[in-house]
Amino acid sequence: MPRLTLLARAAGCAALIALPIIIAAPASVAAIENPPSATPSNTFPAQAGWVRRVTDGIMGTRITVELWSEDRASADRAIDAVLDEMRHIDETMSTYKPTSEVSQVNAHAAEGPMHISKELFGLLTTARQYSVITEGAFDITYASVGYLYDFRAHVRPDEQQIEKALPAVDYRHVLLDAQQQTVQFSQKGVRIDLGGIAKGYAVDRGIDVLKSLGVTRAYVGAGGDSRIIGDRFGEPWIVGIRDPRKGEGNVIARIPLVNAAISTSGDYERFFEEKGVRYHHIIDPHTGHSASKVRSATVIAPYATRTDGLSKTAFVLGPDKAMEIYNKLDDVDAIIVRNDGTIVYSKGMQRGKPDGTPP
Ligand code: ADP
Ligand code: MG
Repeated sequence: MPRLTLLARAAGCAALIALPIIIAAPASVAAIENPPSATPSNTFPAQAGWVRRVTDGIMGTRITVELWSEDRASADRAIDAVLDEMRHIDETMSTYKPTSEVSQVNAHAAEGPMHISKELFGLLTTARQYSVITEGAFDITYASVGYLYDFRAHVRPDEQQIEKALPAVDYRHVLLDAQQQTVQFSQKGVRIDLGGIAKGYAVDRGIDVLKSLGVTRAYVGAGGDSRIIGDRFGEPWIVGIRDPRKGEGNVIARIPLVNAAISTSGDYERFFEEKGVRYHHIIDPHTGHSASKVRSATVIAPYATRTDGLSKTAFVLGPDKAMEIYNKLDDVDAIIVRNDGTIVYSKGMQRGKPDGTPP
């Protein structure tokens, strides 16, 4: 079984931990792969142990929180606090909720500068930074065309509709004034959607909440975005990367992680097929079509906002250009599944192999 070395970077610290990754390991799980704790959480006594809770329906996705706690009551309180924080982010950022702050921005920001919350202003500023880093591949104004798609209902825009909406797609249309804390769209027709970064942000906020409550070992996951603090008492957390063309539970790699975030974007998450063409939820801001240059991209970095902001790049720019960008970022590693099913690894994940192939 081929092995290679992952240099999992500790958040906020330059130290690198060398850990073995097992590629093409036998299939079993989806996200976290560590065996369930010996003490099932529903019979958890008043003593220390692992507690895991899985919740559906916040931000339209599955939230998993697992942590080590001295007693069950504090664990439940900590998990409740994480979920409350995520509900708040959903209420603020969702474009599915007409009352959300982002929906209000979409309705009015073309009319003039709008004062927005510090939190939303901060995330819009961060989103803009990822647009710059990814040379426009990550772009929250994708939604100016993206709103014409409904992947569940198999609805997609025709060429004429795309052509009409496309000029409104450009992150530079979102004008941010830090002094006034305002946002304005430079033209009509611009829409934003934070679906490509809000989950990563929510995971980071969830981790902040846990840290503030004194939790030192935990996993927080929202859909494809996860972050880990601490280890499992001398062992790393193991996160499986799904095979993009096989069912859930089939993994192409298992990644051991300590103090790190990981996001996977895949063309299998939300899609429909028509006449052999796969229409899926990552949109190329330059064409308005589904971005189909890879099957999946996984990014590892200290923060989930960062991994989420970077994981869509490979779909838009292709594996070579995306890897070039990832390799320039010192705290970032990546695993890309190309359209022919082959896998390419970032420099930090190889042992003496500069071309990206496993040893
Ligand atoms: P998940 O939603 O499971 O975390 P991703 O991280 O891959 O999956 O994000 C996909 C989402 O990103 C889409 O559903 C859409 O909301 C948003 N998105 C699509 N294309 C882009 C793009 N070019 N730039 C930024 N966000 C995008
Ligand atoms: Mg994501």
